[in-house]
Amino acid sequence: MNWETVGYLDTGPKLPEPRKNLLWLAVDLDGTLAEPLWTPDNPTSEIGNPIWRNVHKLDEAVIDGWKIVIHTSRPWTDYEAIEAWLNYWGITFHKIVCGKLLAAAYIDDRSVHAEDDVWAPGGLSTRSITKTVELRQKRFARSWTEMFRLASKLCGEGK
Ligand SMILES: [Mg+2]
Repeated sequence: MNWETVGYLDTGPKLPEPRKNLLWLAVDLDGTLAEPLWTPDNPTSEIGNPIWRNVHKLDEAVIDGWKIVIHTSRPWTDYEAIEAWLNYWGITFHKIVCGKLLAAAYIDDRSVHAEDDVWAPGGLSTRSITKTVELRQKRFARSWTEMFRLASKLCGEGK
């Protein structure tokens, strides 16, 4: 097909202007969203349990319209494990980027500390606070259902 004559190259809607406000938040994994398990004596690549107080702050930011890039110093070979972990726990993300720079600390004028009360730059809307409570209730209902299912299975196997 001759694409020049079809007219694909110079017709169609005008490209939208790039968004002026940046909507991405880069969020660390180990020690921020997941309990850190790695130590020099135990160099495991397993991912710890969620740190729920921080997952909650991520939820609030997502509900307020922020997009999440999980930015981890883990290698790309851990990508599938990270994706599976996030999906298993129902943690929202839009992309995963592995391989941070090796540094003892990240000093940045745009930084928010993981232990700050709110992760959304500029604070939260009240809509976000209400919605986050609903999301949290749903998540806990789901985990109780899952625990009941596992418990039933284990009891069944014991017979
Ligand atoms: Mg970390």
